[in-house]
Amino acid sequence: MPAMATRSASSVVPSGPSAPNSWGFGDGQAIPWEYAPAPEARDIVTLKDRYGLFINGRSVAATGGGTFDSIDPSTELRLASVARATPADVDRAVRAARRAQTRSWGQLSGRERAKYLFRISRILQERSREFAVLESMDSGKPIKESRDVDVPLAASHFWYYAGWADKLDYAFPGRVARPLGVAAQIIPWNFPLLMLAWKIAPALAAGNTVVLKPASTTPLSALLFAEVCVQADLPPGTVNILTGPGEIGMAMVTHKGVDKVAFTGSTEIGRQIFRGVAGTDKALTLELGGKAANIVFDDAPLDQAIEGIVNGIYFNQGEVCCAGSRLLVQESIAEPLIDKLKDRLSTIRVGDPLDKNTDVGAINSKSQLEKITELVQSGVDEGAELYQPACDLPERGYFFRPTLFTNVAQSHRIAREEIFGPVLSVLTFRTPDEAVEKANNTPYGLSAGIWTDKGSRILEMVSRMKAGVVWANTFNRFDPTSPFGGYKESGFGREGGMHGLHAYVRLEDH
Ligand code: NDP
Repeated sequence: MPAMATRSASSVVPSGPSAPNSWGFGDGQAIPWEYAPAPEARDIVTLKDRYGLFINGRSVAATGGGTFDSIDPSTELRLASVARATPADVDRAVRAARRAQTRSWGQLSGRERAKYLFRISRILQERSREFAVLESMDSGKPIKESRDVDVPLAASHFWYYAGWADKLDYAFPGRVARPLGVAAQIIPWNFPLLMLAWKIAPALAAGNTVVLKPASTTPLSALLFAEVCVQADLPPGTVNILTGPGEIGMAMVTHKGVDKVAFTGSTEIGRQIFRGVAGTDKALTLELGGKAANIVFDDAPLDQAIEGIVNGIYFNQGEVCCAGSRLLVQESIAEPLIDKLKDRLSTIRVGDPLDKNTDVGAINSKSQLEKITELVQSGVDEGAELYQPACDLPERGYFFRPTLFTNVAQSHRIAREEIFGPVLSVLTFRTPDEAVEKANNTPYGLSAGIWTDKGSRILEMVSRMKAGVVWANTFNRFDPTSPFGGYKESGFGREGGMHGLHAYVRLEDH
């Protein structure tokens, strides 16, 4: 692969008045130093030229032989071709999953299932660097995030649910927990391996088998996971992976042999899936979009809050359903907070996802970049004030500057619509009531953040926020033991923790 014609933003340190004051010696002048390039080696990943579908424990070509390419969004270069599944392949995969559910996986004791899940977790840990590099290549996310967040969390989900596999009687006391059967699982491109783990680990722990479809822009970590299933000696058909377009997702949803559907993605497709299962007895969980409020009160520790705000919206390029995309600041501290935030934004490094110093990598696809660009333009057109730090973007690839909007009105599109990019809209409030009112003024209800020194205020605010997850004096914290999910147009059902198991069992009386 040719060397990337890219420069990280850090190689062009802004100077003069736009330099962050925190870098200077009191006169506002920047210290002219740069991070040396620290690229992670790609050779830990052995890319195949072509990947098949993973059905019944084997890699097979799609019926009809169709393929499509997965590209590296930071270079726009092709990484590999993957099979394009057809409805006939959906049928093959669902049948394989059914066979495994009735004859092999579904017959194992919880203790035996746990052994496999522990084994998968261990293999993910052993191959963590390979997964992290591949994930960053395919999705555009910075290696420090795939290495330190996505992959370890994916491994810990398998570990956590391995622990539950033989303890379902304790999870649901007085009831008998039976698997639902075959689960069709459709995942997005923002956390490909992690979303796979969120879906597959609880399903297998409870004795279900799965057919999973990754997003078409990020199929490769799921296909590497197929290798892990073989390495772990998982009974064939327990996990099946189909790559292909959205229609294949819908063919999975509507297949008669499917008992449970789990989807993470846009609210629009979530609605279509809801309609697809209507009138059937299929179980359904939907994890959809968000427009989270991150609320900073005047007694909050400002520097800590700044880090939380930055993590809340610029983590994973802002391509996060629970991103803190609406910053609500108490009016009395708005000015110093925005100054500090602008200062901090100047230090964010945008560039090569495989550079260990990169904070913001590539946007996942051209169409997502276009969506972000269009929404940012609407913010400017509607009268909000745009701020972007000086930084050079790489010449190739899909990159977007960290962006901050002030003077935002609640009616602006940037305050209402999910942008799914590194774009923060700042609004102000005077009283806690106004903060609650504004925070809840959205069709979504996935997450929220509160920054304050007072524990009593945290408890009061949490009880009034219409959000599935509320973080206090932190943001974007995840743990396998903690349930995650939304209200309103953010979907229903919970993933993670014991609640996540509930979504994959049918409870019967003794
Ligand atoms: P989608 O909802 O289209 O994609 C999510 C998954 O659903 C992908 O695997 C996709 O497959 C699949 N899919 C697409 N169409 C169908 C269908 N008709 N039936 C079943 N499955 C389908 O999201 P986009 O990629 O289009 O992103 C659009 C917006 O959605 C983003 O800008 C963001 O706002 C939001 N989003 C929210 C996410 C979240 O975590 N809540 C995650 C991703 C996006 P394929 O990739 O092949 O199209």
